[in-house]
Amino acid sequence: MERVLITSAIPYINGIKHLGNLVGSQLPADLFARYNRGRGREVLFLCATDEHGTPAELAAAKAGMDVAEYCAKMHAVQAEIARGFRLSFDHFGRSSSPQNHELTQHFAGRLAEAGLISEVSERQVYSNADGRFLPDRYIEGTCPNCGYDKARGDQCENCTKQLDPTDLIDPRSAISGSTDLEVRETKHLYLRQSSMRDQLNAWIDSKTDWPILTTSIAKKWLNDGDGLQDRGITRDLDWGILVKKGKDEWPGMEGKVFYVWFDAPIEYIACAAEWVDAGKGDDWERWWRTDKGAQDVRYVQFMGKDNVPFHTLSFPATILGSGEPWKLVDYIKSFNYLNYDGGQFSTSQGRGVFMDQALSILPSDYWRWWLLSHAPETSDSEFTWENFQAGVNKDLADVLGNFVSRITKFCRSKFGEVIPEAGDYSAQEAQVMADLQARLAAYQAHMEAIEIRKAAAELRAIWVLGNEYLQSAAPWTVFKEDPDRAAAITRFSLNLIPFYALLSAPFIPDAAQAMLDAMGCKDYAWPEDVAEGLSRLPAGQGFTVPEVLFAKISDEQREEWQARFAGVRS
Ligand SMILES: [Zn+2]
Repeated sequence: MERVLITSAIPYINGIKHLGNLVGSQLPADLFARYNRGRGREVLFLCATDEHGTPAELAAAKAGMDVAEYCAKMHAVQAEIARGFRLSFDHFGRSSSPQNHELTQHFAGRLAEAGLISEVSERQVYSNADGRFLPDRYIEGTCPNCGYDKARGDQCENCTKQLDPTDLIDPRSAISGSTDLEVRETKHLYLRQSSMRDQLNAWIDSKTDWPILTTSIAKKWLNDGDGLQDRGITRDLDWGILVKKGKDEWPGMEGKVFYVWFDAPIEYIACAAEWVDAGKGDDWERWWRTDKGAQDVRYVQFMGKDNVPFHTLSFPATILGSGEPWKLVDYIKSFNYLNYDGGQFSTSQGRGVFMDQALSILPSDYWRWWLLSHAPETSDSEFTWENFQAGVNKDLADVLGNFVSRITKFCRSKFGEVIPEAGDYSAQEAQVMADLQARLAAYQAHMEAIEIRKAAAELRAIWVLGNEYLQSAAPWTVFKEDPDRAAAITRFSLNLIPFYALLSAPFIPDAAQAMLDAMGCKDYAWPEDVAEGLSRLPAGQGFTVPEVLFAKISDEQREEWQARFAGVRS
C-alpha cells in the first residue's frame, strides 16, 4: 500500500491562531490527508504545538502561571479548536515532550561528532533583577534615531531602524522594567550551516517538482549571504531542552537550553514517537528511517511562506548533518498570506476572525470550504465578508445543498423515502456519467498535485453538473406523462448524493457524513469509476430527507460580523 507522511507547520503555543494561519498550513494539510485516506493510502498526519522560547515564558508570566502549566493548558485549547475544525491529525503532539527532548539531544550529539557545531563566546545583556540574560527584543529603550521610547533591542517599531541593544538610550528589561542591566560574556553553540551549502544546493536542485514559491524562497536564502549563516542553537533560558551531547553532559553548556528553532522541526519526528507511545501506532521508524522502511514513504510538508527557509535549509541541515538515514521531505507545499478585509489580521488589535470565534458563529464546513477554495496559493488572497457570504450561499447552499434537498424531497412526495425501482437510464444519464468521469479525472489530478483552488473549482463544477442534469431532466414534469422515466431520473439523482459526499469529504467532512448517513450508504470506497460509484444505492433502499445542509448567510448576519471583527484600530 502506498504510504504518505504529512506534517503541518507547528503552531506556536502562545495564543489562538487566526484564519490566515489555519489556511496557511493545518487546513490544506488536513485536506490532503483526508484525500489520501479516501484513495485508500496509508497516511500518517502529524502536527504539534511549538512550546519553547521566551514568548511562552512571558505569556505564562502574564497569565500568572508556571510555564509548563501554561503550555499544557494552551495545548489543550489548541487541540480542542483543531477538533472543532475537524483537523484529522493522527497525533497532535508537543515539542516539549520527552520524546523531543531525547531526539533533539541526539541530533545535537551527532552534529557535534560530525564537526558541524562550534562553540562561540558572545557578549550579551544580563538583567540582575530578572536573574537572566535578555534576548534582544526583550530589551526596551529610547530609539537613538527617532526618539520613540518603546524601541526594542533588535529594531525600532516606529522608524523600522535595525538596532543593537547597546544602541538604546536608557535601556530597560521588557520583563521587569529594571534598568539594572550589564553586558556579560556567555558561550553558545552554533550550527555550521554554511559548510553545508553545496550539499543543500544539490538537494534543492534535485527537487524539480517543487512549487515555484518554495524553490524561489529556498534559493534566495541559500544564495543571499544572510540566509545560510551559521546559527546559534542555544539560549540562556530556563524553559527548553537542556543542552546535552546525546545522553552526555556538554561541558561548559550547563544550564543552557536549545533554541526553539533547533528543536521545533525535530518535533515532526518526535511526534511520530509520541503517536506510538500514545498507543495509536506500533512503529514510527518505518515512517522516518529510510533504513527501516521509510524509503517507500512520500513525505509532504505544508507551511506558510515565512517558514520555507527553515524547512528547506535549517531542518535539512540538521538531518543531513547527522549522517543518519532519516527521511527528508519529498514535497513542500507553501502558501502566501490571507489578508483580512482590506488589511492584515492583527492579534494585538483583535482584527480579523480567530479560530475559536469562527466556530462560535458557523459550523466548520462553511469555513473550510471558503478558505480552501480561496487558498493563497499563487499570491496573497483576501477574506472579505461579502466574498465569504457569496461563496457559502452560492456554492454550498444554492448548488450542493439545494440539489440534495430538492431531489430527496421530490422523491419523498412521489415515491416515498425509498430509492425508486422503475424505469431505465437513457442517453441523458450516459452523457452525465461521461462528463463526470472526465471531471473526476481532473479533480483527482489537481488533488494529487495539491492545486487546491483548482481542485475546489473542479469539485464545484461536479456539483453544478448534477444541478443542471436535474433541471433539464425535470422529473417533476416528466412524472405526469411517464412516471417510470421520472423514477429512473430520481434514482440516478439520489445516487449522485453519496458520490458527491465521498468526493467532497476532504473539503466538507461533516456535511459529507450527513449526506452518507441520510442515504444509508456505508460504502466509503473512493468512486473512481463513475458508473460503479453511481450504483451504490440499490432500488428499494430506504433513505431520510436530510436536515438543511447549509443555511444561507443573511445580509444582517454579514453586517453584524463585519462590525464585530473589525478590531480596535489604533
Ligand atoms: Zn526609531
